[in-house]
Amino acid sequence: MTTASLSQELFDRACRVIPSGVNSPVRAFGSVGGTPPFIASASGALLTDADGREYVDLVGSWGPMILGHANPQVVAAVQEAATRGLSFGAPQAGEVGIAEEVARRIGPVEQLRLVNSGTEATMSALRVARAATGRDVVVKFAGCYHGHVDALLAEAGSGVATFAMPGSAGVTAATARDTVVLPYGDREALTALLAERGGEIAAIITEAAPANMGVVPPPVVEGVGFNRFLAESAHAAGALLISDEVLTGFRASEEGHYGIDGKGWAPDLMTFGKVIGGGLPVGAFGGRADLMGLLAPAGPVYQAGTLSGNPLATAAGLATFAGLDDAAYAQLTSASTALQQLVADALTTAGVPHVIQRAGTLFSVFFREDEVRTYADAKAQDTDAFRRFFHALLEDGIYLPPSAFEAWFVSTAHTPEVIDRIAEALPAAARAAAAG
Ligand SMILES: *Cc1c(COP(=O)(O)O)cnc(C)c1O
Repeated sequence: MTTASLSQELFDRACRVIPSGVNSPVRAFGSVGGTPPFIASASGALLTDADGREYVDLVGSWGPMILGHANPQVVAAVQEAATRGLSFGAPQAGEVGIAEEVARRIGPVEQLRLVNSGTEATMSALRVARAATGRDVVVKFAGCYHGHVDALLAEAGSGVATFAMPGSAGVTAATARDTVVLPYGDREALTALLAERGGEIAAIITEAAPANMGVVPPPVVEGVGFNRFLAESAHAAGALLISDEVLTGFRASEEGHYGIDGKGWAPDLMTFGKVIGGGLPVGAFGGRADLMGLLAPAGPVYQAGTLSGNPLATAAGLATFAGLDDAAYAQLTSASTALQQLVADALTTAGVPHVIQRAGTLFSVFFREDEVRTYADAKAQDTDAFRRFFHALLEDGIYLPPSAFEAWFVSTAHTPEVIDRIAEALPAAARAAAAG
């Protein structure tokens, strides 16, 4: 970033009153260096910063803005809802609409409860799983991120990966003891763990396709996908499978990653966020009706929220779902595919080792030679090359996630003209990445 800019001024002020100047660590440019632009407005695929500079956005608020920024239908729905009141603290129709839409798209979801973030969703799903099984231990996979829930921060992806943290301080030893972390995709390790401690395990939680250490498609062995293997292993041990689709839900495909995982099996509980709020703060967890029936007031598991199912948030979510038809997924697929090809061409021409991995319309670029299957693989990449690539693109008005460990997000507003703008900037950025 240029100095003496309004973004710089705002960031200096922010750093005095907000820790590191940001309200979520991934927004800081800690791992790439420099000052994050402060965004003044956004429309379609474009962001405009406080200094009036325009960027093609490949972050999309980290997933929610799947129809592009300030989508006219979504904005109109929120405006209309606002005129009817901002929050009731009583049931309203939009909540029913969201739950019906999710249940219609995602077979295993019989019942759904809305919360305000993905973090709340995974935290609550875990509580239900512990109540249902009467067990304490949760199994997670290294490099998977499930929000900033105490029990789920060990070897987490997203910002925890970006800033190379082992987990988080402030998590009690007792909580850490109840979390077992395994390498992603390691069937033998899971089988051995279940043989030894199966009776203690309440749930296995996994990202449906890890996307917070970069995108790692779940490995298929002899026709059996990793998620199905997890469901069958969990059930054999009397434990539950929680499939976290906060990021992949309604993005990887119309039915989330579950839709491309093959049928004939089901997770017990699923978590959602990001796309389902269309840019407003919404998360959700759902699944088998007998499990969801454990929630208060009918059941013994307490879970609540003053603003849960907020009418503006459900209006944004419903308008977003309305826009996510077959044509929208075709558009997302073509934008994603075109961009992957352009990036591959530019990096190959410049001689930069890289591998592009995908899960449906979701993809990421690793700066290393070989396929990434685990968190250890993801960490073994050339983050300096990424940093040079990132800054060259930013200078040219392309806003990538400021981390080598994140997915790139396209939207239906990433039209061929927008992709062309990225194409123009890529060769120079690839050369910058190569110039180590
Ligand atoms: C973003 C994310 C979360 C956390 O959601 P928040 O709304 O940021 O709390 C949980 N799980 C996955 C897979 C995510 O990508």
